[in-house]
Amino acid sequence: MAGGFAKDGAVQEQIDATIEDAVARTRARLPRGESLEYCEECDVAIPEARRKAVPGVRLCVVCQSERDKEAVNVSGYNRRGSKDSQLR
Ligand SMILES: [Zn+2]
Repeated sequence: MAGGFAKDGAVQEQIDATIEDAVARTRARLPRGESLEYCEECDVAIPEARRKAVPGVRLCVVCQSERDKEAVNVSGYNRRGSKDSQLR
């Protein structure tokens, strides 16, 4: 029982660090400058609200979320499967 708290805390810190790392990497990949009017991937019009909210945006919401998912997989954070099986 001793040390249980410390272990849990360490795991949580690791998870937080992983998320922060991913966010930092995503931010680092964000292009600077003009937002595109049309998605770089699928040529769909990007709403003005999104272009203002995300300076330098190049992708529509759909393509951006696809790319974010890929980025998560590439970073090796693929423990989702085992976590799901624990919850079920
Ligand atoms: Zn798109």
